[in-house]
Amino acid sequence: MSNEHNCATCAFFEDHKANTTAVPDDAGLCRFNPPVTQPEANARGLWPVVKSDDWCGHFEAEAA
Ligand code: SF4
Repeated sequence: MSNEHNCATCAFFEDHKANTTAVPDDAGLCRFNPPVTQPEANARGLWPVVKSDDWCGHFEAEAA
């Protein structure tokens, strides 16, 4: 996949903090699937953290 098709340019990438822990500058949250890995019964599920230059087969370009 080309450098232009990565998480940073994907419609499902969110680059601001939404989990309980800070997201590194070069990373964000993938919103393709619902939150996962609920650490405790009364805790929230967590959005997967991905690097800006990562990618996966669900990539979808952001609307122009
Ligand atoms: S992991 Fe896949 S679906 Fe999620 S932001 Fe990256 S390219 Fe998009």
